[in-house]
Amino acid sequence: MKKNLLSILALALVLFSCSSDENAISNETSSEALRHNHRNCASHEVHERQLKENPELAIKMNAIEEFTQNRSRDLQYRLVNGKIVIPVVVNVLYRTAAENISLAQIQSQIDVLNRDFNASNSDFANIPSVFSGVAANVGITFELDAVYRKSTKKTSWGTRDAMKKSSQGGLNPTSPSTKLNLWVCTIGGGILGYAQFPGGSLATDGVVVDSRYFGTVGTATAPYNLGRTATHEVGHWLNLRHIWGDATCGSDLVSDTPTHNTANYGIPSFPHYSTCTGNPIEMTMNFMDYTDDAGMYMFSNGQKARMLALFAAGGARNSFAQP
Ligand SMILES: [Zn+2]
Repeated sequence: MKKNLLSILALALVLFSCSSDENAISNETSSEALRHNHRNCASHEVHERQLKENPELAIKMNAIEEFTQNRSRDLQYRLVNGKIVIPVVVNVLYRTAAENISLAQIQSQIDVLNRDFNASNSDFANIPSVFSGVAANVGITFELDAVYRKSTKKTSWGTRDAMKKSSQGGLNPTSPSTKLNLWVCTIGGGILGYAQFPGGSLATDGVVVDSRYFGTVGTATAPYNLGRTATHEVGHWLNLRHIWGDATCGSDLVSDTPTHNTANYGIPSFPHYSTCTGNPIEMTMNFMDYTDDAGMYMFSNGQKARMLALFAAGGARNSFAQP
């Protein structure tokens, strides 16, 4: 009996938490609405689900982590085959005309990726001096390869990868071992986007971004209208973790980023001190935090080394570095 009661309580909690975002939409003045307006990326949750569904993924990812730690230490920031250029396939799934975003909006997102991954974003100059020594020019270029569009009847796609499967009304990825696939659609549940970390199934490899938070023109909506959702998600796709390590004072597996208490939202005033060991100033302007688009404008050299290790011989994304 006790067990049944606990199950009912647990179920009630799950139902309550799942419905909170819906409440947020209907009641804009509640604190739930404020939470809904916060950045929300589902990459970590999707990853946890994939680990449960596929026990071998953990073994594979542990091997990638060991490789990354060794490679980052040995190679530092040396590029593989000169410059890394990543062809990008954009898969647009639309029900409304607004969801069928323009080529200009798509290109504006590619442009943001190129600026943010090459330290040519104008706000790079805003990096506080305390972090300027570790601010990275990652040196990865993105090229629009193809755009595929598909009309659907779905009002939202969720985070279970349906958009990546033709059999479920979505679009299968194109050449995922050599091209970065982006899916642009309405996700729902207050989720701005999510990525799959290196090591997952090729059939679902890539990044999903809600069409209202994609690019800088057209339907791009403030405060997520500077294309940083895709920058953040491509960071995950290149093996970066959230800067707070998805835990209180957690680790992002990078040594030159400060330990953060938790996610930061909006545009925090500087300096924002951590209450974790050593009370460091948090790097709230890092792309892997949860701030508004205007609040994030840097990767660190440690993050750069982590990303580039994937392209080295034997690395999980080495197929992208082949000529
Ligand atoms: Zn994220």
